Amino acid sequence: MAPGPLQRSTLVITNVHLANDSGDTASRQIYTLVCTNGEVHSIEAVNGATAHDEPTPRVQIYPDATVLDAGGHGISLPSLCHAHIHLDKCLLLPGRCDTLVKGDFQEALEVTARAKASFLDDPEDLYNRGRQLTVESIKCGVTIMRAHVEVDKTVRMVCLDVGLRLQEELRDACDIQVAVFAQDPLFTSMDSAEPGENYLLLCEAARRTGVSAVGSAPYVEPSITQAKKNIDLILDIAYEKMLHADFHLDYNLDPASEPLVWYLLSQLRGRIREGRWAAASRVCVGHATRLTLFSRDEWDELARIIREEDLPLTLVGLPPSDLYMMGRDTSSPPRGTLDVPRLRREHGLRVGMSVNNVGNAFTPQGPIDPLALCPLGIAIFQAGTEEDAKILLESITVDAKTAIQTLESRSKPFSLRVKVGDRADFVLLDQNDTVYEVALRPSYVRTTIKSGVIVAKRVDSSWVMGELGSQKL
Ligand SMILES: [Zn+2]
Repeated sequence: MAPGPLQRSTLVITNVHLANDSGDTASRQIYTLVCTNGEVHSIEAVNGATAHDEPTPRVQIYPDATVLDAGGHGISLPSLCHAHIHLDKCLLLPGRCDTLVKGDFQEALEVTARAKASFLDDPEDLYNRGRQLTVESIKCGVTIMRAHVEVDKTVRMVCLDVGLRLQEELRDACDIQVAVFAQDPLFTSMDSAEPGENYLLLCEAARRTGVSAVGSAPYVEPSITQAKKNIDLILDIAYEKMLHADFHLDYNLDPASEPLVWYLLSQLRGRIREGRWAAASRVCVGHATRLTLFSRDEWDELARIIREEDLPLTLVGLPPSDLYMMGRDTSSPPRGTLDVPRLRREHGLRVGMSVNNVGNAFTPQGPIDPLALCPLGIAIFQAGTEEDAKILLESITVDAKTAIQTLESRSKPFSLRVKVGDRADFVLLDQNDTVYEVALRPSYVRTTIKSGVIVAKRVDSSWVMGELGSQKL
């Protein structure tokens, strides 16, 4: 496509590979991508070149542009997205919470609750941990995240205040969607007919400017009836405040438990029919591990309803937490996390994947990097084909963005293939040439681009005796 008149703020990414829709390993074509005013302005193949020789003509046409020359190596993909990450209770383990003795879910709730009790007195620690999480994420290639911040009697508004502060401070490098989140029950006891103080605080938090979503964990309620009321209350707040809703739902592997996703679906469909749901609002369902016990017919039914009614609802698997926490009581722990490639292949369901927790009692292990979910997914789902790799990568980029509804995700269909007019939010992976390589062995060296501006670089600074002669760092 021939470029039209260019305006200021031009970024030229040249001699770089791009994903295409027809199996990218067959293509070694390299491209020049011109981004202006935050969008992709033009995409041109570099003539017949497979490696970097000379600066391309395209670079010379835009003398005032910032030029990022990949040198014939590396692939530029849509930037990464944390569809679901906890900003306030990250990086607590080890050292900032009690030592784990049992490592089970109840202990995680108790240990984290005790750690939370100090948040009000030490907001700087809260801020520093949240900032570290966000900055490290940006270096990985994340330009947008939904950050859950807890609101309840223990922490009141302190986590929210920190989330909004980071949202403002880092706005040029990362869009932080703040989700006010009730990890604790909204109902104080089994006998409570009405929600208690946690609910009132959540309503207050949802009114704050800068909040995008409201969420809860219905499974913590004293009864199943109250869990359903919890869902109703969150959907009510979302509608009244024009927010997205985000649930931690069906977080178990108990075949005898009622999957509350059906209740949520019926509520959402009813509200849409009755005009009690904002068109721009979406619903995210995190974990949903109970659904891994679904029969083929149940999955068909769920996928059919979502697809045929174009419901604004996305499932988001959270493998680091799901795998750690689910199945602890069984002799052979199951793969209790949503099988993203299979659900896409067999049911046409696009499922997001996200990191959820980093360094706490709910998920002690694992990196901040969303791309690390791809090799993990390949292993746990035995999903090693090129098609699987593409699905997994989409789940942490375009599908994750769809889950939390970003500007670019409103134009369907969406894929890894860059198009003119797309938002210029990319991650450039220097040590990978193809989508397949990215999923198998994600490049450490990366450049993060948001709105056509380079916002982070991560370089490999290392030295091995004998490898680089006498050069030392
Ligand atoms: Zn979560």
